[in-house]
Amino acid sequence: MTTLSDILEIHSLSASFTHSKTSSDVLRLDKIHPVISGNKWFKLKYYLQDAASKNLNTILTFGGPYSNHIVATAFACKLQHIKCIGIIRGEKPEILSHTLQSAEHYGMELFFIDRTSYKNKIIPSQIDSEDLYIVPEGGYGKLGGKGAAEILDIIDLEKYSHIICACGTGTTLAGLVSNKKEYQKVIGINVLKGYEKITDDIKIIVDNTHQNLKFEINNDYHFGGYAKYNADLINFMNLLWVKEKIPTDFVYTGKLFFAVKQMILNDYFEKDSRLLIIHSGGLQGNLSLPDKTLLF
Ligand SMILES: *Cc1c(COP(=O)(O)O)cnc(C)c1O
Repeated sequence: MTTLSDILEIHSLSASFTHSKTSSDVLRLDKIHPVISGNKWFKLKYYLQDAASKNLNTILTFGGPYSNHIVATAFACKLQHIKCIGIIRGEKPEILSHTLQSAEHYGMELFFIDRTSYKNKIIPSQIDSEDLYIVPEGGYGKLGGKGAAEILDIIDLEKYSHIICACGTGTTLAGLVSNKKEYQKVIGINVLKGYEKITDDIKIIVDNTHQNLKFEINNDYHFGGYAKYNADLINFMNLLWVKEKIPTDFVYTGKLFFAVKQMILNDYFEKDSRLLIIHSGGLQGNLSLPDKTLLF
């Protein structure tokens, strides 16, 4: 049987990437599956268990047209043979995004609602509300955090001083914070612009039965906002691929790696720090870039 630890690989970044004595290992959750990005898999686990235990057989969740969470949910439900519904922000486009095409292909039923209704999470009236289990947008919530905490159970955690991940809702980070060692610091690279409230939102869902919940959010590497990018980011992602054979996505992990390298160059980390960088997957998102933008 294939176990998680067979799929995962700790990849040490070479000195040419880091230019320093800081050691950086990468936890390649992107290798779990090309479509279900690594962290989504973990975040969904307890929601699906909760739905099953309540005998609710239709999963409903929310997302934008490029949402990794939407595809991951569609695929996870397919594996469990349960019905799923995606409520998508905005008008139905003539041609569906790759993300939504995949979601439909995996059996998700899509409903498009206008932005105001989306903001208020209004469920279209034609959906039968019986049997429905709602997974919050982006998997945000305590159960999502509980699943994400398990990311740290599959590695040799003790040796790291810092754990670094990309943040959208912050649910993954909340999980990491809940399960880290007392001496470790978790740093989240926020990919959303102007989402400073993320710190409070994380504190709401973190498992605070743990002692030391120290974490830090860095807001300096959103590149203009969610899914925004520029030539510097793309060049960096291509270089990272050429030098380290690590593919990244332009929405989350490209910005994460860019930030880590910059922070190392800026001497952010004290000497002999040992970083664990969480590659949270999300590579399917690159399909929305123009052809030939990336070398991988
Ligand atoms: C969704 C996603 C994130 C953000 O996870 P949160 O738990 O919402 O902070 C990070 N990386 C990738 C690749 C994602 O798809």
